[in-house]
Amino acid sequence: MNGFRNLSLKQLKEFKPIITRNLAWFNRQSNKQSFGTKLKRRLRNLLIVSVIGFGSYYGYRNYKNYKWHKELNESNESTGTKPRIVVLGTGWGAVPFLKHIDSQKYEVVCVSPRNYFLMTPLLPSVSVGTVETRTVIEAIRTLIGPRIKYVEAHCVDIDPKLKIITCNTDEKGTVSRGDDIKTIVVQSKRESGASSRIIKDSARTRPQFDMKYDILIVAIGSSTNTFNIPGVEEHAHFLKEILDARRIRSAISDAFESAMTPTQTEEERKRLLHFIVVGGGPTGVEFAAELADLVREDLQHYYPRLVSNDVKITLIEALDHVLSMMDKQISDYTEKHFHRENIEVLMNTFVKAVKQREVIVQAKGSNEQTSIPCSVVVWATGIKSHALTNRLREVIGLNIQSNRMGILTDQYLRIKGINDGSIFAIGDCATIEQPKLVDRIQLLFEEADTQHRGALDLQQFRSLVERRINEFPQLEMFSKKIEEVFKQADKDKSGYLSMERLHSALEKADTKIRALPATAQVASQEGRYIADLLNQLPDLTIKNYQQYNLKPFRYKHMGTLAYVGGDSAVLDFSGTKPILDLFNLKPLSGRGAAYLWKSFYFTEMFSGRTKTLLAFDWIRTQLYGRDISRY
Ligand code: FAD
Ligand code: MG
Repeated sequence: MNGFRNLSLKQLKEFKPIITRNLAWFNRQSNKQSFGTKLKRRLRNLLIVSVIGFGSYYGYRNYKNYKWHKELNESNESTGTKPRIVVLGTGWGAVPFLKHIDSQKYEVVCVSPRNYFLMTPLLPSVSVGTVETRTVIEAIRTLIGPRIKYVEAHCVDIDPKLKIITCNTDEKGTVSRGDDIKTIVVQSKRESGASSRIIKDSARTRPQFDMKYDILIVAIGSSTNTFNIPGVEEHAHFLKEILDARRIRSAISDAFESAMTPTQTEEERKRLLHFIVVGGGPTGVEFAAELADLVREDLQHYYPRLVSNDVKITLIEALDHVLSMMDKQISDYTEKHFHRENIEVLMNTFVKAVKQREVIVQAKGSNEQTSIPCSVVVWATGIKSHALTNRLREVIGLNIQSNRMGILTDQYLRIKGINDGSIFAIGDCATIEQPKLVDRIQLLFEEADTQHRGALDLQQFRSLVERRINEFPQLEMFSKKIEEVFKQADKDKSGYLSMERLHSALEKADTKIRALPATAQVASQEGRYIADLLNQLPDLTIKNYQQYNLKPFRYKHMGTLAYVGGDSAVLDFSGTKPILDLFNLKPLSGRGAAYLWKSFYFTEMFSGRTKTLLAFDWIRTQLYGRDISRY
């Protein structure tokens, strides 16, 4: 190889006649052949390629079938012989767990009322038809294969003492919003006067049952928070489940068709075409952006007069910025961008009530309430805990489980108050309790003060931080600048820190404790973490994980992405902040960010099937626009 690289141009020229001669011979050979011979040769090649292609395809299909049946038989044979892990949920927390848990070691059973995984970040796209419903869901049985059992059921109660869960009762409040598909189908058929008969089918019976577990993983997610504002449950759309997106899509279409009725008054037309989004977090912002895209790119074409005269989109936010969890520059960019896209943003505004045809709002600092006439209201203000989460907190004791936002866990994600460590909680339903350094200061100080001087020198302070950083992640802010922190804390420049001085330094670190956000990123890292932890655990009776060198959970924040419409997105990658600050650069926004947003979600899709569907949906939307029919 190196010899070739060193050939000079002159030497290369010497090869030229040889190559030319050979090529000429080759051409002569192929020209000499008659048409019949050429055709025969081509047909033979085609046959060989087809045989190899079909052979490989059938080989692969048979192998997959064989593997599926082998795993099925193995899992049937081993039922009852291995410790049983029961997983509640089929969402962002549960699925990574199910994909990575070692099914040779444990018998794994998944219980959830939803027999599919839902790609929630694409729900705003589904609600306007940019992406189709089936693209964002994948059957759980396909995802996990036969080695894990799945039972479609609601868990309604957990008995941590007997280690038993109870599933399926008709208790009110335990049925998810995604469960009422039949009612909706029946209703929509009636509404649109469909000719198809409504059949009372008898396929759905779910008797109550109990199930024993050795380990329980609670990953049941959260519910939408209405803050008990009157009318929200009855009149606002949520955007959490696939059926919510379908309902919104249908409601938008309804509003336009109603506005086209010849006898409609102008006032009523304006009301019908006023869409309100409540909540300026990523979900609210992305929905408003997708709706503006739908109006500009498609509805403008079919309803030009309505779009130019009557359509209005308003986003209502209680704080003084949208996307307040992201960088300030990103909020500013989004607000300006929304202005260009004709989305009105009402900041510092509280929704006081939602009625069938209006929303009542009140501006911050004012006593006056205003009515805004509108048709579709989308409620995206945040989450509250699930009914089963509250039930479990009660069973354990509200004095121990004192956090109303979710189930408190330790840093290994084991539920607080369950002494045998047999229940873990992950995702939106759980919050990791971060111990405060100042609560343990006595112990920390005595442990570090090895020479019993009543004060710590730099070396002792350093080893305290290094030894305890796993248990107290807030110490991370010290780890890279220990000397600086020490100097700042050592106010009298004695070279030693007294207990009092250490206290004030540790107090500063404690202010950095933050609950992890309720995101898919957190849930999936937690699910993966517990699978790895349980795969490594030599024995389920072990309680002291530190002894076996098992590391507590650490969240790695990758950054935040949001689509803001008009082929633009905003990205906030936490790791890049110092670099951006150094070169005085802005966080990434605009078209480039939108391509990154698209590629990110494309790669995040869980299977080849959904990736293909997503690519086709995007291409279809670009070529032919969105499907605006109502069904
Ligand atoms: P979920 O994914 O909600 O799963 C809960 C599961 O539990 C479901 O399968 C449910 O059927 C099941 N379940 C419910 N009740 C019971 C019961 N009684 N018994 C058994 N099972 C039960 N996060 C991001 O990081 N990035 C984003 O871009 C993003 N966009 C989002 C957009 C929208 C529209 C929404 C709604 C959320 C978005 N999120 C995003 C947040 C993310 O979806 C959640 O944080 C994540 O789904 C939490 O995962 P989880 O496993 O805790 O709950
Ligand atoms: Mg959480």
